[in-house]
Parts: sequence; C-alpha cells; structure tokens
Amino acid sequence: MSEVERYAAPRSLDEATELLRSGGVTIFAGGTDLMPQSRAGRVAMQPLLMNIRRIPELRGVSEGDGVIRIGALTTMTDLLRSDLVKGRLAALWQACDHFASDQLRNAGTIGGNICNASPAGDTLVPLLVLNADVALASKPNGSLNVRKMALAEFLAGPGRTRREPHELLTAVELPSPPSGFISEFFKFGARPALDISTISIGLGGVWSGDRLTDVRIAFGAVAPTPIRAPQTEQALEGRALDGAAIEAAIEAADAEIRPIGDVRASDWYRREMVRNMLRRMLDNVRSR
Ligand SMILES: Cc1cc2nc3c(=O)[nH]c(=O)nc-3n(C[C@H](O)[C@H](O)[C@H](O)COP(=O)(O)OP(=O)(O)OC[C@H]3O[C@@H](n4cnc5c(N)ncnc54)[C@H](O)[C@@H]3O)c2cc1C
Repeated sequence: MSEVERYAAPRSLDEATELLRSGGVTIFAGGTDLMPQSRAGRVAMQPLLMNIRRIPELRGVSEGDGVIRIGALTTMTDLLRSDLVKGRLAALWQACDHFASDQLRNAGTIGGNICNASPAGDTLVPLLVLNADVALASKPNGSLNVRKMALAEFLAGPGRTRREPHELLTAVELPSPPSGFISEFFKFGARPALDISTISIGLGGVWSGDRLTDVRIAFGAVAPTPIRAPQTEQALEGRALDGAAIEAAIEAADAEIRPIGDVRASDWYRREMVRNMLRRMLDNVRSR
C-alpha cells in the first residue's frame, strides 16, 4: 500500500484544481468512507492527501434558473436542515434521515457518497429520481473547466465512476421539480438507520387525480450501481394507479433488477423486498 507523503488543505476551487493537475492526489472530504477503506487496505493512498473541507464554494444548497445546486461538500446534516430539500426534494431528505448516525451525518458529504459509488449509496437513489447531473471541475490547460454529466452515466460500477483523476466533483445539479411533483424514499437494512441498505427504492412523479405522470423509479443495492427502472416507469406512466397498474409495475421491476446474494441478504430476499415495498409505496401514493 502506498504512503501519504504530503498534506494540503486548499481554500479555493482554483487552488484545489491546480493541485489535482499535477496528479498523485487523494481527495478527502468527510473521510467516513476513505479512512476505513484505507485502513482495511482497500484504497491505495496517493502521495498527496488533499482535504477539500476549507473550500467554501463547495458547500450549500441554492436554487436559480430552474436548477437546484447542491455543493459537493454539503453534509447529510446540512441537507436535513434545508427547507428547500425538505419541501421540494422529499426523497433526498428521507434518505438523509435514514443515513447512518448523527456523527456520520455531520461528517459525510453528498460528494463523498456519490464518488464512493456504492451500489447501496443512499443519496444516489433519490438523486437518480431527481434527474441529477454532476459537475466536475479541472484545469486541463491551466484554466478552469467544468464538465457536466448525468449521474446515471457517472456511476460506472461498484466503487467506480467516470471521474478523471484530475477532476473534482464540485456539485450536483437537479432540475427544479415540476409543480405537483411528489417523491419518496424507502430503505431496508438490518437496523433502520445505522445500517447500509439491503435494498432501497426511490419513487417520483407528478400526482394528479388518480395517476402519476413523469414517473421516475430507482433502485439501490440490486445491481452493480443504483439504477433507474424505465420499464417499471413505463408500466405506471399516465395510467390510473389501480391494482392492475401496481402489479404490472412490480413484474416490470422484477425483470429489471439484478440482485446478488451477499452477507446482508440473499438475491431471493432482495427480490421479495423490492416486490413488497414497491407495492407498499405505490399503495401509499394511491391513498394520498
Ligand atoms: C459506520 C458507517 C455507516 C455508514 N452508513 C451509511 C449509510 O447509511 N448510507 C450511506 O449511503 N453511506 C453510509 N456510509 C458511507 C459514508 O458515510 C458515505 O458514503 C459518505 O457520504 C461519504 O462521504 P465523505 O464525505 O465521508 O467521503 P470521503 O470518505 O471523504 O470520500 C469518499 C470517496 O470519494 C472521494 N471524494 C470525496 N469527495 C470528493 C469530491 N468532491 N470530488 C472527487 N472525489 C471526492 C474520496 O477521494 C473517496 O474516494 C457509512 C459509513 C460508515 C463508516
């Protein structure tokens, strides 16, 4: 395992991207994934450890021009305290409410959760429902460049993203949800909050009368990355949300997920949980 030789704590995005340009950098945000993974020998530290926590422009939630921007350094606690998140991005707020313990919510950042790219990462499922893009900053030719990419594309596999080594995730950007938009998140773990998800489900759409439109369904911990489920969405889109539509959505979901068995649950159990909990979530929407 390689050793850290230097430590830096830049105070601006400009400084951080300049450091990344020279290569050999490990980015440290809350450290809640990085430190246990490095101690377990699962992550090889680069010669320069760069703490990004002193860069103010990376933190906070704001809205403008039809986009909600969440800085990469925004912690789970910050998100729980945001009226905008609680009022408009309910599924994301609920995911933070089921995230680990108070200590971990204070330290763990949304950027770290995204870049860690766990198939069970709790914010990833609501962010997929909210059609999130990621913003990545770098200085390829000495001047600051930002590229944006859909989160669904950014997540490449378990623990893998499409971030280049010289890029810093600066923010996640969500189109402001349309009027009448509702969203919900469900997580099942051995313990309600203190555990990594065995499965998770995110659901969103515009609820009007007896039907959902602009339907968005995402699943966590049932595929190599958290996934959107287009066939499940199609089974519900614009249809009266009756028993037949719900059962059609459950069958579609069963065909779209690819769960594996591991220490947390068997693949059979994960399938049963998805079927039962999706039914319960859709029943809840129906009884609004
Ligand atoms: C006991 C325990 C319980 C947990 N419970 C949960 C849970 O319930 N749900 C859940 O989803 N997770 C859980 N986690 C995992 C972890 O807390 C989260 O993934 C957290 O959001 C990581 O954020 P961080 O700021 O601590 O990331 P860090 O550990 O600092 O970084 C994680 C990775 O992302 C990279 N990185 C961080 N920020 C950036 C950036 N801006 N740009 C580029 N790369 C970056 C780092 O280099 C590193 O590879 C748990 C962890 C522990 C130890």
